[in-house]
Amino acid sequence: MDLCVIGTLAYDSIETPFGSAQDALGGSATYIATSASYFTQPVGVVGVVGGDFSSEALAFLQSRGVDISGVEIKTDGRTFRWAGRYHHDLNQRDTLDTQLNVLAEFDPVIPESMRNARFVCLGNIAPALQSKVLDQMIAPEFIVCDTMNFWIEGAFDDLRLVLARVDCLIINDSEARLMTNEPNLMRAARMIMQMGPHILIIKKGEHGALLFTSEGIFSAPAFPLENIFDPTGAGDTFAGGFIGYLARQGEITESNLRQAVVVGSAMASFCVEKFSVDALKDLTQEKIRERIQAFKHLSHFEHEEISIANPAA
Ligand code: AMP
Repeated sequence: MDLCVIGTLAYDSIETPFGSAQDALGGSATYIATSASYFTQPVGVVGVVGGDFSSEALAFLQSRGVDISGVEIKTDGRTFRWAGRYHHDLNQRDTLDTQLNVLAEFDPVIPESMRNARFVCLGNIAPALQSKVLDQMIAPEFIVCDTMNFWIEGAFDDLRLVLARVDCLIINDSEARLMTNEPNLMRAARMIMQMGPHILIIKKGEHGALLFTSEGIFSAPAFPLENIFDPTGAGDTFAGGFIGYLARQGEITESNLRQAVVVGSAMASFCVEKFSVDALKDLTQEKIRERIQAFKHLSHFEHEEISIANPAA
């Protein structure tokens, strides 16, 4: 197994200007694993659910080539729940409720078959749990970490310990500013990279994503969509496409990292078209390739043809 993912498996209640959904399948691990499964299989998932988690949801993950042997089922507990409301500007959302439930007592145990995974994705979950996962991995070659304001505000000391151990952090622009108390994203990026990750991705919602590496900055657009229905999980879907593609390529190079950012952006652009993981259920190679091609077209230009007047003339 090349890729092991830890994160939440959740029921989400979502309100957007276009509709609402109650107890929809969600969670960081659900989105990451589903997205990554289009590039590498099996994807090992480590997480916890309650007795109320539907067997159909687990069967769906298995149908995507996800190994759920690391998902603990606490029959007498309730699954993690999150509720959020999106503003008219879909880049803005309020968390209405976070119920940790079975997550509060979770002590992750990584199955033997997953401990030697080369790629690890620490999806959004308590940083202390992210650390416990890293403690059990044998010799991961590339560790990606995601987090959110809930943990930046509530468990920053734990998060700092995780950051010191990861290769790549994926966060959004408001989280980068929150983490550093620095409004300027370039300065915030430098400060975050000093905390540990040598690769940083800052997502800017419908304005794309920035990749920071030792070689410089790469900017990928977001796909301009007319119908954005529900942005929930877009960030996790991005992370899944990003690490899934890197696991498939097997090598961390600047070129692969840039391609992986575009793959992640393409996967996220599908995610937002429907509620929950619905838009990620029936993608085809052709649809994914077409969208990646559209990304290339979106930002490609012939710079040799741009003529500039001589200021001295
Ligand atoms: P995203 O829109 O990519 O930020 O991810 C949304 C998903 O994250 C939802 O499916 C939620 O269930 C999950 N989520 C929300 N809050 C948390 C949290 N504090 N820790 C872990 N996962 C969360």
